[in-house]
Amino acid sequence: MTTPVYENFINGHFLKNQTGDTFAVKNPATDEVIYHVEIADEFIQNAAIESAKQGFAVWSAMTPIERSRILLKAVAILRERNDELAKVEVLDTGKPWQEAECVDVETGADVIEYFAGLAPAQVGQQQMVGNDFYYTRKEPLGICAGIGAWNYPLQIACWKSGPALAAGNAVIFKPSEETPLGAIKLAEIFIEAGVPAGVFNVVQGAAEVGQWLTANPNIEKVSFTGEVGTGKKVMASAAGSLKDVTMELGGKSPLLVFDDADVSQAVSAAMLGNFYTQGEICTNCTRIYVHKNVYQQFIDELKTRTEQNIIAGDPMDPEVNLGALISKKHQELVLSYIDRGIQEGATLLTGGKALSPASAPNGYFVEPTVFVDCKDDMTIVKEEIFGPVMSVLVFDDEDDVIQRANDTHLGLAAGVFTKDIQRAHRVIHQLQAGICWINSYGNSPAEMPVGGYKQSGIGRENGIETLDHYTQTKSIYVGMSNIESPF
Ligand code: NDP
Repeated sequence: MTTPVYENFINGHFLKNQTGDTFAVKNPATDEVIYHVEIADEFIQNAAIESAKQGFAVWSAMTPIERSRILLKAVAILRERNDELAKVEVLDTGKPWQEAECVDVETGADVIEYFAGLAPAQVGQQQMVGNDFYYTRKEPLGICAGIGAWNYPLQIACWKSGPALAAGNAVIFKPSEETPLGAIKLAEIFIEAGVPAGVFNVVQGAAEVGQWLTANPNIEKVSFTGEVGTGKKVMASAAGSLKDVTMELGGKSPLLVFDDADVSQAVSAAMLGNFYTQGEICTNCTRIYVHKNVYQQFIDELKTRTEQNIIAGDPMDPEVNLGALISKKHQELVLSYIDRGIQEGATLLTGGKALSPASAPNGYFVEPTVFVDCKDDMTIVKEEIFGPVMSVLVFDDEDDVIQRANDTHLGLAAGVFTKDIQRAHRVIHQLQAGICWINSYGNSPAEMPVGGYKQSGIGRENGIETLDHYTQTKSIYVGMSNIESPF
């Protein structure tokens, strides 16, 4: 059976490459190749830059309210096509339909809508300096590159293009080669909505194509989502032409459950923050510190609910709430971390093996896995696993657990469960993390800035401040009297 071949999306249409090189994309739930994608060769790369230059000239000359109106049309189309787009995400990522249907497209559309609304509200300043004055203009940067991870492909493309386009920039976006279709669908929707050709381009390929973007001197900014190690390479390469960077990287986030917490609510948060999207979420609370007074109650309920309420299988089945991991290689990596946990002496409370559900026997599934009696120096407690693997640790002192929670080079997210309002804020203010939750976990509305402390990132996505990260300030001094010159 022949599968479709998708070309790169340049200057408003699909463009064939010259080398004819392609890569295959598999459905993680079936291990079957579902389509091929052409790799962006030199011809495509040059065309992408030319296209983005032309797109930028047209787009940046429009008024913000014109851009806003067009982006809002794209938002409406995204919402109309929710189910079609959600299906693309399920087939590419292996995540459950019940998530994609209400989260992936929705949260992407929300962010474009949010920035479309803000675009006309961006203003410069004016100040008198004696009789003279100056004023400032918020100008777009030019061509911005977006490089995405594979866990939320369409959402990431929306989160990067929303503020970039609202501020008047052009974008060249490279999705992960594991999940390339969502960004293409978004590019088509932008064109349909009236975004001029060349404003949003999609180039396809693996690390080499990403490296080309980060090194190309025509590109003013790189917004990257991915692993910490890759982020360091991207930043080093971007330094060659002093590009602005936004880095959304990995995490190993703590959740602190105090003995006055609603334990069932804390278990819900722990399960959401480890098993949603089969654990492939950057903000996951993979280190759960539970106060010794509620430790046994917590792990008893966690074990029961994990064993009774999780349904793995064909991700398109609306009943399924645990999907397949992104690739065989990633499944093996996650299983190797589980082996390491066992070797290092953690107690396996539940899970721990590959799964082969009857409705998706060839998928790359891993059982929802919980380790208890974990120690801070275990590999599973220190390293990001990016799969459904939770580590539970015990604590009995507030200051001590804060110090333990902060003892990591990562700082993406953190959470606290307690009914003591003063403790909730006191503790969360001391946790070294960019995205924090009190008696909640994982919600990330368009209005709320997200990004990491320490090696989890640089800059923010979403929230008002992000629009500033896609503009530069021009100051203009206006002389109102004759120049006094000593020459
Ligand atoms: P990677 O770092 O492997 O890849 C991210 C993107 O970078 C992919 O498009 C990849 O291409 C590309 N890439 C790889 N090497 C280079 C390079 N040298 N130069 C430029 N681009 C390159 O991350 P994953 O895709 O494996 O995603 C998982 C990671 O992403 C986890 O660590 C997770 O925590 C993090 N993440 C962070 C989020 C946040 O907001 N903080 C959100 C989501 C995920 P290709 O894949 O095609 O090789």
